[in-house]
This record gives sequence, C-alpha cells and structure tokens, in this order.
Amino acid sequence: MSIPLKRTRNIGIIAHIDAGKTTTTERILFYTGKSYKIGEVHEGTTVMDWMPQERERGITITAAATTTFWIPTYFKENQDENNRYRINIIDTPGHIDFTAEVERSLRVLDGAVMVFDAVQGVEPQSETVWRQADKYKVPRLCFINKIDRIGANFAESLLSIREKLNKNAIPLAIPIGQESQFSGLIDLLTMQALYFEGKHGEKIVIKEIPDEFKQEAHKYHEELIEKVAELDDELTQDYLEGKKIDINKLKLAIRKGVLEYKFIPVYCGSALKNKGVQLILDGICDYLPNPLETPLVKGIDPKTNQEKIISADPQGPLVALVFKLAADPFFGQLIYIRIYSGTLKSGSYILNSTRDKQERISKVVLMHANHREEVKQLIAGEIGAVIGLKESKTGDTLCDPSFPVVLEQIKFPEPVIDMKIEPETKDDEEKLAFVLRKFQDEDPTFKVKIDKDTGDTLISGMGELHLDIITDRMKREYNVKLKTGRPQVAYKETIVKPVKNIEGKYIRQSGGRGQYGHVIIDIEPLERGKGFEFVNKIKGGIIPDEYIGPIEKGIKEAMEKGILASYELTDLKVTLHDGSYHEVDSSDIAFKIAGSIALIEAAKKAGLILLEPIMKLETVIPAQFFGKVTGDINSRRGRIENMHERYNMKVIDAKVPLAEMFGYATSLRTLTEGRGSFYMEFDHYEPAPNNIAQQIIEGKSVSQTTNKK
Ligand code: GDP
Repeated sequence: MSIPLKRTRNIGIIAHIDAGKTTTTERILFYTGKSYKIGEVHEGTTVMDWMPQERERGITITAAATTTFWIPTYFKENQDENNRYRINIIDTPGHIDFTAEVERSLRVLDGAVMVFDAVQGVEPQSETVWRQADKYKVPRLCFINKIDRIGANFAESLLSIREKLNKNAIPLAIPIGQESQFSGLIDLLTMQALYFEGKHGEKIVIKEIPDEFKQEAHKYHEELIEKVAELDDELTQDYLEGKKIDINKLKLAIRKGVLEYKFIPVYCGSALKNKGVQLILDGICDYLPNPLETPLVKGIDPKTNQEKIISADPQGPLVALVFKLAADPFFGQLIYIRIYSGTLKSGSYILNSTRDKQERISKVVLMHANHREEVKQLIAGEIGAVIGLKESKTGDTLCDPSFPVVLEQIKFPEPVIDMKIEPETKDDEEKLAFVLRKFQDEDPTFKVKIDKDTGDTLISGMGELHLDIITDRMKREYNVKLKTGRPQVAYKETIVKPVKNIEGKYIRQSGGRGQYGHVIIDIEPLERGKGFEFVNKIKGGIIPDEYIGPIEKGIKEAMEKGILASYELTDLKVTLHDGSYHEVDSSDIAFKIAGSIALIEAAKKAGLILLEPIMKLETVIPAQFFGKVTGDINSRRGRIENMHERYNMKVIDAKVPLAEMFGYATSLRTLTEGRGSFYMEFDHYEPAPNNIAQQIIEGKSVSQTTNKK
C-alpha cells in the first residue's frame, strides 16, 4: 500500500541514556502493530536492539531505520486507509560516545521525539543532543517519561526543559497523579481524562477530568490556548474576543509553530507502565513535518563546483544519502539510505558521486522491527535500505548518472582515546585486517593507525565504551581473538607560529634512472579543530599538476605520523608555492617524499606543541561531599565552571583533561560512599601544560590506572 509523502514521517527518538528511549520505541512498535511481543529492556528481549551486546548492555547502538504504520487514535471511528500514516523510526544511539551515529541520524530524520526522565528532568546528554538537533533544524516533541517513578515531578521537569532547552515547551497533556498514584493523562486540547486499559494499555478509555485535577488542567489549558493564539493572527483575534477556538484550528496553528521552532509540544506518561505512548504517535502525525515540509537540501556539482538545490520530488533526478552500513544476518551488507529526490528502483544503476563509481542496486528493502520486506522502489522523502553496493560508504551520495551532485558531508569529531590491539594467532591477524577495514567503513569516528615507533596497531575512538563495544563485536561477530591494551589518551601535535619558504628536496641522481622531487612550502597554524588545509599556488607548471596530489599525500602522511611524540599533527595550513622538477627523474614517489621532508622541516621550525583532549564533566553528588569532590576535581587539573542544585543534589560542571580522568568512577564512588554519579564527553583540544607535555614526550604516561564506568 502506498502512502503519500504528506502522511510520511521520518523521526528519531533521542534521549539521555536510561531516560527510556528503548522502552518508548518498543511501545511504539507494539502499538503500531509491528512488534507482537512487548520486550522489556531489562529482560534483554527488545526488538530494535538486535546485536547481542546491545541486549546485554541495554543500550542502542545501530541506527537501523524501522518502518511502521499508524492511524491516529482520534480516527478511532474511521479506520480508513486514507487516515493511515507511515512512520519511519531512525534509531539513534543512547550513548554520547557514538557521536557519529547521532549526527548522521539527525541529518536524515525530519522530526524528533526527545525523551526525558521525570525524576531527572534535563540531563547533560539531553542538552547535547538538543543542541545537535538545533544544528540540523529538527522540529521536535518532548516526552516526559517515568511519571510513575518515585521522585517523578512533571512540573519541575517541564521547568528544566524551559530553562535549559527552550522556553516554548508547552504541555499538551498533564499527568493524573504522579509516582505510584499516576493513573492517566489529561488531554489539554480536548480537556478529557484518558486512561490506558487492557494488558498493554492499548485500550484508551475517555472520562471526565477528576474534580481534584480540574483547576490544574484549566490553568495549563489556558496557558496552552494563549500560547497557540500568539502563533496565528486569526486565532489571536478569536482569543481576544473570548471566542471558543476550534480544535482543528488549534492543531494547525501548533503544527505551524512546531515547524518554525516556536512551539514545542510536551507529552508525558510512563512507557514502562504503558501510559501515554499513543499520544506521542498522534503528536508525530499531527505536528512533526512530512518530508515535503523540511528545508531544501543543497548539494554541489562535483564537476563544476556549482550549488544545486534538491527538492523532494519523486519525478526529479535521483539523489540519496548513505547514512549507515550494517551487517545483516539475511542480506549480508545492508546500506541504509535516505532519498532526497527522485525514485530509486531495484535493478537500476546509480552513480556514487562521492567516489565517482557506478554501481547497481540489486534489492531495495524496508526494515520492519521483526522482518524485512522487499520493495520495488523508494521515492523522495523515504528511508530504507539497499543491497548490492560494493563501493559505497557512510556519508556517500548516490545519484542519477546524468545529474551528478554531492550532498554536504557530515563533519565528525576526532577520536580521543587510543588502545593497542594484538591478534592472538596468524589466523586472527588475517581476519583482523578485514574487520578493521569494515569497522572503519561503518563508523567515521573509529580509526586505526600503526605506532611508528613500536609498530603496534592502535585503534582510536570517542571513549572507552566505544572501543569496548567495537572489540567486543570483533570477538563475537567475527571470531577474532584479540589481546587489548589499556586505553590511552590520543594526544595531538600542532604548531605555534607560521614559517615561510621551507624546502623539501629528494634528489638521487647517480647513474641509471634517478629521483627528483623538489618543493617549497609555507606553513601556518589554523584555528583549533580545523584540521588540515592544503593550498596549491604553483603557477606556470614549475611543478606539473600530476605531482601535486603526491606532494599533498606526502605531507598528510608525515602529519599522521607526528613529529614530537608520534601523535598526529593537526590544525595547520600548508601552501605549496615553489619547487622544480626533472623531465626524466621526477616521479610521484620522489615528490611524495619531498613533501614529507618539507613538512617535517617546516613543523620543527614552526614550534611544535602537544594538544590534549579536554572533557566536559558533570558530577552529581549529595551536598555533604561537596568539598571532597571539588578538591578531587581540582587535583585532576579540572576547572570548575558552574555549580547548582538539582533535586537536593549538588551538580558540578567542570572541564577536565581526559588524561586525569582514568579511575574517576572508582574515586568518586569512594569519595561519596557510592552516591555520586558523573557524565563525561569530549569538549575540545588544548595545549598540554609544559611539564605534562614533557613527561608524555619522554614516554611517561601521566596516568597509569584505567577507568571503568
Ligand atoms: P534508554 O537508555 O533511554 O534506551 O532507556 P531504557 O528504555 O533502556 O530504560 C532504562 C531503564 O528505565 C530500564 O530499566 C527501563 O525498564 C526503565 N524505564 C523505562 N521507562 C520507564 C517508565 O516509564 N517508568 C519506570 N519506572 N521505568 C522506566
């Protein structure tokens, strides 16, 4: 059955770890009829998380896209096919170490549901993900979950959303009772009480609002109407004249407000106790954008570098983005894509414009929670998976060969933690090379390098959990036996001042065919986080074009190897402006070596320093431990930036070097008698203090203990 784009929603469910994202997703799959058994996270039977270690850890890692169908509850009397919506749920990871997954899912979805824990309100990761969603301009709904939990506080949670995230967060429903008294919801639009009966709360029973909640409901209702009236001139008029406003008009105004980020609907309930989830589904249909309502996507013509605007027209030329590669037990390699324009048909040939390769789509599939459905095609605005592409990787653009265009690339942060790995046997060594390549293809924040001094294989990622999961998958899924070292900080090197006219020469001319490469470069520091920029200013063919690529490659290779202490060199710009060549003796390799020589020489003259990763740390503790805990943060070279209270607990925000954070979990536990908790994520790189840098360069590790959160 085909559902028009107007009734299609591509959404993601995002949250701080443990807020209830997985449970909410499970309930959504249950109510939309695609999952026949309600899985509990703590029993390890959920449908979305199908990798074994996800089940064990109870966290979600893969960004699988699941297709579901929903007829809003208010159409109960009219279950007509014309009222059916298609909701594609793009799964987002629950842990910040999987930044790449969060970013790329935000990129392809059109709307989001943010899940909060009613005891915790806004937590640090909710804030981070919220800002990421802002960056991609994703309209969203909020769901304050766990209203049934001891300590749940709807009003406080709402306040924390308004204070920390967006003041336009407005409830569309409020709870009837909280904690163990939580029994149902008041729908603030219809002003009715809703109760969720049946084994899984699937039966919605409508009643009158209980007397003791009438006053509160009216207060929230008034606030809602006033806020909606502000969004629409006609409604403002009606409101001022005291007229009763039609619900459909209210809904349309809310929808407009959501799309313009002026109104953020807030729902509440308990996913675990099966209360309130259907309202979120209605909200997704009513207020989140369809693919036609999202901002126009832009791409670049790879040949002319001109901008092309892409519109969600199924008749237009094909443009699609690969956002995820995943191993599938039935199909082998699955490639998840979002179609931005045109129609993608099974059996057709497409151009991978990022790699300039033609490929054939052998199958197109829709992923449901518990089965896969082969379809003939996907059209603009749809999300699905394809099989058959050999060369395509995450982030690549697929398009019509006659309409070459490359969509904007997602920029990922650099990994901050390294870990040595060693295959146990020769057989494992062979498998390892293949597996490492595969993981790098799937995950742009996972990198592999060889230590230039020791020859060791190092893997790098965004945090200990990230690397743990990857090594675990290598062992389980690919049966590679590995020894792993302890996680180490991934330092970087950079330069402090510009230098000009540095020569790199690689000339060997003694009999037979010689070697001749000669370059002159300038280098200068770039702003932190900018990476590497290469500018070619060679004029008049003093170095032929064909050697420019190899020169850049030589420079990059030297940067990757590092100079001070084998850490990657970063944040610098190289301008190639002079040099010479030899008709016979010049070669790619000679210019590559000349490039490396010049870079090393230049970097040494430009003053090398070591950069260390600084983490954003939030520590939550009972007040009596405040002195000890802040003292400990200070002793870890931490800078305390802010302190505040949250639900009788003290919250300390700080920036701390990652090198000092190994063992923090244990130390915090000891200092707070097990009552403190913390949350940490990468923030930025900055120069390491001289004495510390010196120790690292001399090969002394700053911290010897490892940390297990
Ligand atoms: P995620 O990390 O955001 O995916 O969170 P999960 O869905 O895995 O939930 C984390 C924990 O909270 C699990 O033990 C759930 O059973 C529990 N949980 C989820 N929703 C609720 C709820 O509405 N009420 C209560 N009391 N617990 C919940």
